[in-house]
Amino acid sequence: MEHLSKKETIALRDKHIGKSCQLFFRQDPLKIVRAQAQYMFDEKGDQFLDCINNVAHVGHCHPAVVEAGCRQMSILNTNNRFLHDNIVLCARRIISTMPDKLSVCYFVNSGSEANDLALRLAQIHTGNTDVLTLEHAYHGHLTTLIDISHYKFSLPGGPPQKDHVHVASCPDTYRGKYRDSDHPKRDLSRLYSDEIREICDKVRQEKGQGVCAFIAESLLSCGGQVIPPENYLKEVYEHVRQSGGVCISDEVQVGFGRLGKQWWGFQLHDVVPDIVTMGKPMGNGHPIAAVVTTEAIAESFRATGVEYFNTYGGNPVSCAIANAVFDTIEKENLREHALVVGEYFFDSCQMLSKKHSCIGDVRGVGLFLGIELVKDREERTPDKETATYVVKRMKEEHILISADGPDCNVIKIKPPLVFTKENVDEVISALDRVLKELRDSGKGTVGVKGVETPSKEPRARKAIKEERIKSI
Ligand code: PMP
Repeated sequence: MEHLSKKETIALRDKHIGKSCQLFFRQDPLKIVRAQAQYMFDEKGDQFLDCINNVAHVGHCHPAVVEAGCRQMSILNTNNRFLHDNIVLCARRIISTMPDKLSVCYFVNSGSEANDLALRLAQIHTGNTDVLTLEHAYHGHLTTLIDISHYKFSLPGGPPQKDHVHVASCPDTYRGKYRDSDHPKRDLSRLYSDEIREICDKVRQEKGQGVCAFIAESLLSCGGQVIPPENYLKEVYEHVRQSGGVCISDEVQVGFGRLGKQWWGFQLHDVVPDIVTMGKPMGNGHPIAAVVTTEAIAESFRATGVEYFNTYGGNPVSCAIANAVFDTIEKENLREHALVVGEYFFDSCQMLSKKHSCIGDVRGVGLFLGIELVKDREERTPDKETATYVVKRMKEEHILISADGPDCNVIKIKPPLVFTKENVDEVISALDRVLKELRDSGKGTVGVKGVETPSKEPRARKAIKEERIKSI
């Protein structure tokens, strides 16, 4: 194959790849030519520690996963209208990690396809159309999903909010509508879940029908690594079900053991969804995703008489890869590892927050962590400039991290699960260095060079597109 210089790659990309497909580090994009475990390498052979790629779940190019894919590729790849062991074994594997009532799988190719199918199942099963989603949520790039992804449709230039879509506040107890600084902890879930009940009541009054579905991540990644308050999902699920709707848990980012003890985020909240969607880590970089649901919902779908066919969903190669990912998680004890290393990461970030007042909050479960940067701890004013600076400087330190959340001030950490305590030490000491140099330079949090000061526009419509270093 022809090899291009980095300059040539950029020129060709500029010419032929749609401009909406944006790069990480737009000022000086990385050309990554290979990766292994938790490391990525550029065209010069320089190594970068990867804290971004939750997709490379068991480590980039894990030999067992590569081998499983290559072997199956050399034997057979075809669609799932032929009987094959890989798909049924994969389904059995997924179901073994789920509560009893979730027993039917559909295989698809991406998280977006999974969520689109989940919405279709919900509509068919309930006969309703109104969907409840959360502020700053992202559920995929298909048209149906942009419509329910406040993270996208609320941006300047995004499509107008559709009639059937209802957005409830993000249950962020640190900087959301109801904060732990203003309300007793025990009230927070109710305050947030009451909004869901009110929306359900409003739909009933205005449209004379129940709702179709509530969809949310069990821990909110694009919302800024937010962990909903205890009981929130329990209360929400109750309201939605009382209103005739089903509950969809989007596990595309947080599933497959990233959180340590649990396979799935919803298990952390002690709820059982009606539909679960998964993707990203499932194929460790290969496109495979799935929807899991109840027999009753699957039966409503079947009863329509419309066949569901997906050319690539659940093909033998994809399923061989997903089965190898499951095997690797178990053989290498990666859930336990995520728990231990995640706790160490969390504690190290807490220690760092004692030294740097710009760290307002540290939160996380397993290897899903967020460090929220603020200008002032009392007011909890978001500090996007420092977050932008940190992401850029960490790259110079050969550590890849990203920032997200409605104000782009939350440093997101979601590395491959093979991340080690030594890697944590590297990240923490680099972060310490970068924050110290920022403080010593006197720039602090006011106007880091080259970064604009945030506008006073309302949070949801802010023109954050440019600086958001996307990592979804
Ligand atoms: N749901 C969530 C929570 C996601 O983060 C994403 C993608 N980052 C998707 C759905 C869509 O997945 P995909 O990009 O594989 O279509």
